[in-house]
Amino acid sequence: MGQVKLIVSNWKMNLDSKQATRLITNLKKLKKIHPNFKNIICPQFMLIPLVSRLINQNQIILGSQDCHYINEGAYTGDTSIKLLKENNCKYVIIGHSERRHNHKETDSIVRKKVEHVLLNKLKPIVCVGESLKQRKSNKYKYILKKQLNNCIPTNQNHIVIAYEPIWSIGSGLVPTLNEINEIYSLTKLFLRNNKKIKDFYFLYGGSVNSENFKKILDNTDVDGALIGGASLNFKEIKKILTKS
Ligand code: PEP
Repeated sequence: MGQVKLIVSNWKMNLDSKQATRLITNLKKLKKIHPNFKNIICPQFMLIPLVSRLINQNQIILGSQDCHYINEGAYTGDTSIKLLKENNCKYVIIGHSERRHNHKETDSIVRKKVEHVLLNKLKPIVCVGESLKQRKSNKYKYILKKQLNNCIPTNQNHIVIAYEPIWSIGSGLVPTLNEINEIYSLTKLFLRNNKKIKDFYFLYGGSVNSENFKKILDNTDVDGALIGGASLNFKEIKKILTKS
């Protein structure tokens, strides 16, 4: 999209209060964060109020890993966007493959959540990605277009798309630079022709670490990364944020 790069930490269901406090305290001391990088952290829901109190919002931006698409009501175990806003969340990860798999989230649920987040003036980070079987059987382009078609509303410039191949998450397997760029081009063309979207952020996610991050950022069209495992390790995330 441009100069600004989004570095999104997805802490998943990791870290207790003490560990989160330590990681945030260390991150706050980081002096040389790359000037074009936005450091976005998505903790577990229970950690959000704590992290919100700890951060300086000019330095660290808060996000969540999900939200419900209804304002309030009888939805046991779910979290409302009202509370996310009260706790200074600016971004919401939607449709992560772990939610699609573990919580049976369909494209149509993802779409409702994306629309709800946009309506509430937060920024959705919409995850798409194919399975290994779909990649091997050469169905991945069809699958990705279908996900984009079903999950992304029209006319939403500046939306964030996170391409996360399921086979890459937590596996150490990373697509080649050409493969990442192929999906970037597919997304760009599809959003322009079918959704009237010209400007969007394209993130790559899946086994990103400080080593491969530099290569991916310098040699592809990505606008940043969605980072799971490596975001829990201060040394790793420090190298990523300072591009050192
Ligand atoms: C993720 O699940 O969002 C992710 C990118 O995980 P990891 O970096 O651990 O592969």
